[in-house]
Amino acid sequence: MKDWEKYEEQIFEKLSDEFPDSNILKNQKITGKYSNRSRQIDILVKSESIGRNLLIAVDCKMFNKKIDIKTVESFIGFTEDIGAHVGILITNKGYSKSALNRVKNYHRDIQLDIIEFEYIDDYHFSWDDCYLCKDEYDIPRGRIIWNEPFGFIDDGALTIIDNGKCSYCGEIHAKCQGCGMTLEFDSNSTDEIHECYCENIFSIKSEYIGRGMYENQIIIRKKINNEDDDNFEVNDPNQIKLFE
Ligand SMILES: [Zn+2]
Ligand SMILES: [Zn+2]
Repeated sequence: MKDWEKYEEQIFEKLSDEFPDSNILKNQKITGKYSNRSRQIDILVKSESIGRNLLIAVDCKMFNKKIDIKTVESFIGFTEDIGAHVGILITNKGYSKSALNRVKNYHRDIQLDIIEFEYIDDYHFSWDDCYLCKDEYDIPRGRIIWNEPFGFIDDGALTIIDNGKCSYCGEIHAKCQGCGMTLEFDSNSTDEIHECYCENIFSIKSEYIGRGMYENQIIIRKKINNEDDDNFEVNDPNQIKLFE
């Protein structure tokens, strides 16, 4: 078996594990709806999730150079042409920062991602739907693309927080791994403070970074029970210790 065959085989196996009920096909051809040309797809996943058909196109790049913005742009054209809902580029040589930015900021109907082959075992093909943008049939349009998680430490206890953006509307989402709750920040709404089941309070801090751009950051703090006077609670510290 050649190197690239082994590489594709491993990716294929990973996809088979992640999508056990799907049809996973290698080396497929689909006639492009715009190009009217036969397009070759390394791995095609046909999955049925929440009552809709999902077409996932996987392109296995085995390069001696990093994926750059040009590769991403041609891949965008390709996924649009074949009518994929999800497009994944797998690379064994990494990618440039601008290539990743292009992927992360592509807020359209297609969800894109780049995966480094080295980390494929840690990658999860989770499609968390965004409930802020739905189509006329009430089906979520976008999926949440999660970034690197970060840790929130309170009183020596660590909670892992995922933060991501919707692939369609671009709104920020956070997920508390402590309780599994997903919090969505709707920039059109005034209520930008959310609480998860572990009583962590999430909010967004918007900071001006110049050139007319703002950077949004998720801010987390622990709920303090005696903070609002309506719910004033006195906690016996010894009692708390007992129950911890
Ligand atoms: Zn959305
Ligand atoms: Zn939580």
